[in-house]
Order: sequence, then structure tokens, then C-alpha cells
Amino acid sequence: MAKYMPEPFKIKMVEPLKMTTKEERIQKLKDANYNVFALKSDDIYIDLLTDSGTGAMSDTQWAAMITGDESYAGARGYQRIIDAVHDIFEYDFVQPVHQGRAAEQVLFPYYLSKDKVCISNMHFDTTRGHVGLLGAEPVDIVVPEASDTQNFAPFKGNMDVERFEAYIQEVGAERVGLVIMTITNNSAGGQPVSMANMKAVSEITKKYKLPLILDAARYAENAYFIKTREEGYADKSIIEITREMFSYAEAFTMSAKKDAIVNMGGLIGIKNNSEIYEKVKGLTIPYEGFVTYGGLAGRDLEALAVGLYEGLNVDFLKYRIGQVEYLGSLFKESNVPFQYPVGGHAVFIDAKVMLPHIPYYEFPAQALVCELYIEAGIRACDIGSYMLDVDRKTGEQLESEMEFTRLAIPRRVYTQAHFDIVAEALENIMKRASSIRGYEITWQPPVLRHFTAKLKPIIK
Ligand SMILES: *Cc1c(COP(=O)(O)O)cnc(C)c1O
Repeated sequence: MAKYMPEPFKIKMVEPLKMTTKEERIQKLKDANYNVFALKSDDIYIDLLTDSGTGAMSDTQWAAMITGDESYAGARGYQRIIDAVHDIFEYDFVQPVHQGRAAEQVLFPYYLSKDKVCISNMHFDTTRGHVGLLGAEPVDIVVPEASDTQNFAPFKGNMDVERFEAYIQEVGAERVGLVIMTITNNSAGGQPVSMANMKAVSEITKKYKLPLILDAARYAENAYFIKTREEGYADKSIIEITREMFSYAEAFTMSAKKDAIVNMGGLIGIKNNSEIYEKVKGLTIPYEGFVTYGGLAGRDLEALAVGLYEGLNVDFLKYRIGQVEYLGSLFKESNVPFQYPVGGHAVFIDAKVMLPHIPYYEFPAQALVCELYIEAGIRACDIGSYMLDVDRKTGEQLESEMEFTRLAIPRRVYTQAHFDIVAEALENIMKRASSIRGYEITWQPPVLRHFTAKLKPIIK
């Protein structure tokens, strides 16, 4: 079993949790039509729905918020963000925005238009959405190891470099509007990208004169994985590794709700191209607000400037990644099947293996989400066939390659005992796995149904 990495902080402020009984949870889940997005967060004991915007800020971040300057133009916080981005990423231009998808909305029109192709190691769903909104086609070219959930590979988030180059030749470089490296690779389970891979991708983009940007929500976790898994980086600091990663791209988009540990915020960084920056400023003003606040309050800018550094702290990262590894190791002990190795921000339970009697069209990963809530008040998220919408043409249920129940870990929020409860809950669920039923959908919207659909258990 992995050792639990001790917290590099102590707790100064607490948020009480309500304890509920199993009977109450059964009723609340029924009232929510078996969709955990419809539950009140007060009725949840351990909320592992997402690690986005759910982290606990430090006293230093809260202190910075009090000093926030709420001037409409030229607020102090804007300068602090610029200084932090110069220092950490060594990029010349920065545009704050309200969250990651806003960065995509503002930056992508510079690169993409109808009939262009956007290639990535894997598009995050909002990224895919913004590529599509511009009439361009998102193409994922991740390494095949990414879909092997059982065997260790250090960098399952990598781009498949050979297929990448072959694909550019196949469609023609002039059709490729943009190349995005997502670090860590969220949709592949928070799996990291190696420096060697980043370098190789950058060389190919140079060869074909293609722009390369980073989707950098988890920049610090990725740097930590490079430090601990890639040869030649053990003695480099996290900030040095971060600078090298960012040196290969010309711009980045970032959801600051992940590694920068704020509840709301995002960034666009541009290395040295003032033409891109002018275009970004032009779109920021109508969509996000004046360039010096970009959809954020002055106090948010302050907390973000501090959080960008806190995310890089090596003791914090050791604890954070250690926490996710600890949970994985508890699962291993009780034979709960999960994607191995665990990613930086989440453990993905393999519901297809755990509940083999539930077919994809009865949503095994969602069935496990419901069981986790009933068992111990834990909220998880289906990343499987339930999350996929129906085929738009035929109306038929699509089959996801994987049926994952994702347990995403908020930063600096839960303690070892909470993780022990999660592992215990899954152990208990394993014991009654064969009696767990599948679900059917009773109502669904046309797109992105998993947020609002209604379900009910199938009684056979
Ligand atoms: C969260 C995330 C986004 C979108 O960011 P939001 O802040 O949720 O809008 C984009 N890309 C990746 C890789 C993400 O994890």
C-alpha cells in the first residue's frame, strides 16, 4: 500500500459537513432522478465530482484578495498576473479571462475557421466544443497506451508522434490550423505528457510551420510527473521544468481552476507575437470585459497570481499526487478495478469490469455513481456511455470505449480518513456488485444530457 503523503499545511478554517443516513440518501437520490448533478451539495459528504474550482485557497491567497484593487482599468492585480506569467512561463503577453473555456473562445478564432483541422493529444470537451463552433474539425492522436488501463506506462498522455506526422501529410499542412498539447491529458485520465514528446511534437510543428499551443490547466502536475518519471529531470526544479515545457509552444490557454487553485479564473499567455495579442485583446473586450480584468474581480486576479506559484510547490505536489496514488493503492488492495497508473487529479474506476452484467446501454458507470452516493454520500461522475449523447442521426445510444466512474480529487480539501471511507465504500459495493441494477433514461435534452437528464433503475 502506498504511504499517505502528509499534508504540507494545517487547517485554519473548516466547512462543516452534514451527515446523512442511508435511508435519507436513497430518498434524495430518487428525488434527484438518479442524476447526482441534481443533488444539493449540502447532502453530499465527500464531493469528488470535479477538481475544477473546488480547491481550498491558502491564507496567503485570502490575504491577497483583501488587497484586491477593483479599478475598472489598470488594476494592480493585472500587473501581478503579468509579472507572474513573465516569471513562471517566460511569456511576454497575458490576458486574464473568467475561465478556461473563455480563453478558448477568445484565442481560437485567430487560428481556426471553417474546414480547418485542429490536432491534439486529446481535446478536452469544451476545447472540442470551441473548435467545432468555429467550423473546424478536432482530431485526437493520443498514444495507444492511453487505452490500456491495466499496464504501467509513464506518459500515457503523449501524442502519437508517428501518426501525428502521417496525419499532417494525409490532410495537408495547409489545412491544419492548430496543434494543441493538453497537459496533463485530462480526457485520457489526467495522464502526463513527457518532455521528450513535447519536444518531438514541437519539432514536427516547426517542420510543417504549424502553430503549437498548450492547454495548460494542469501545468504543475505535469511538471511533477516529468520530474519523478523522466530521465534527466530529477534534479530540476518544478519551475525550471515548467519553463522548458512552455518554451516549446507559442501560446497557452489555462483554466486556473485546476493547478492555480482558484475558484474561478483563466489565462491566455502569448510568447512574443504581438499580432496574436492584438487579436486576443479585440475579442476579450466584447466577450470578457476590459483587458486588465478579463471577466474577473480585482481580488480574483490577486488570488490567481499567488495560486500560480502555490501550485508549483514541490511539497504540495508530492502530497497531492501522493493522495491520488494512495487512493489507487487502497483500491488495488481490495481488487477494485481502476485505470493504472492513476492520473494527477483523479482515479478512474473501471465500471465495465466491476459490473460486467450491466450492458453499456444501461450505464454501468452511472450505476456505480448512484451506489457510491447511497453507500457513503460520495459524489462521483460518469465518464462512459451515459455521458455520451445518442447518435444525432439515428437516435441510438452510442457505446463508449470505456465505462469509467471518475473520482476527481479537489486540492487541499479532504484528508486521509476521507479517502479510507471512499475505499471502504467501494469494497462494500464490490461485495454486492452482482445485485446492482442498470438504469434507463426517462427524459433527456438534445445535447450534453448528463448534466440534466432524468433516470430510473431498471427493474427486471
Ligand atoms: C477544465 C479544463 C478546461 C476548461 O476550463 P474551464 O475553466 O472549466 O472553462 C479546458 N481544458 C482542460 C484540459 C481542462 O481541464
